[in-house]
Amino acid sequence: MSELFTEEAIETARILFARPAEFLMGAAKIEQLPSPDLPEVAFAGRSNVGKSSLINGLTGRHGLARASNEPGRTREVNLFLLDGRLRLVDLPGYGFARASKSDTSKFQNLGRSYLRGRPNLKRVYLLIDARHGLKDVDKEALDALDLAAVSYQIVLTKADKLRSSAAVEKVAAETLKAVSKRPAAFPRVAVTSSEIGTGLPELRAEIAQTAGVID
Ligand code: GDP
Repeated sequence: MSELFTEEAIETARILFARPAEFLMGAAKIEQLPSPDLPEVAFAGRSNVGKSSLINGLTGRHGLARASNEPGRTREVNLFLLDGRLRLVDLPGYGFARASKSDTSKFQNLGRSYLRGRPNLKRVYLLIDARHGLKDVDKEALDALDLAAVSYQIVLTKADKLRSSAAVEKVAAETLKAVSKRPAAFPRVAVTSSEIGTGLPELRAEIAQTAGVID
């Protein structure tokens, strides 16, 4: 993937993500969100997919997003501010059986209204566990993203858990094929491991470019 980005873009993005990052707020209601005056990119995925770890890994701040969150625990839309220039948005995790029905729909509604009502949202990164690929519950999320007409990109997480890079490539190709006909899907799948850092420099560059924070 790295050939997609110049060394300069990778380096500029590295510097950006090394700048101060802070937890801004958790919003339980859409009205609580800050005014849409800065670009935002959002992260979505099943509970336990590695979303907190990815946000921590991208920013190099290990306590920024809570990596130890209880599966399916009450979640808000959490916003982080990077370098005063870009907001990283942690959407509620979905699809965990232990969450009660009413909780699940509440969070899904919150996530959906965020997707629909955010003019400054540049892209959603939909995280998929590289070991599992797309599940039915992910397809519901893809439907919601297509319906909201928000640009989104698939990010495979936990690539280190697969036994070979060929196995990772296979999942990436299958996943790309599965989303290729979806109107709002970006035609590239990012492969990452927060554990060993795979793909994080490229994802930083991708995010920074998409958000218009770097050229
Ligand atoms: P979230 O619920 O989506 O925020 O998921 P977390 O970030 O809390 O991660 C869920 C579990 O997966 C934790 O036990 C993490 O340590 C583990 N995990 C997250 N990312 C990786 C990764 O890249 N590699 C491996 N091996 N484990 C990971």
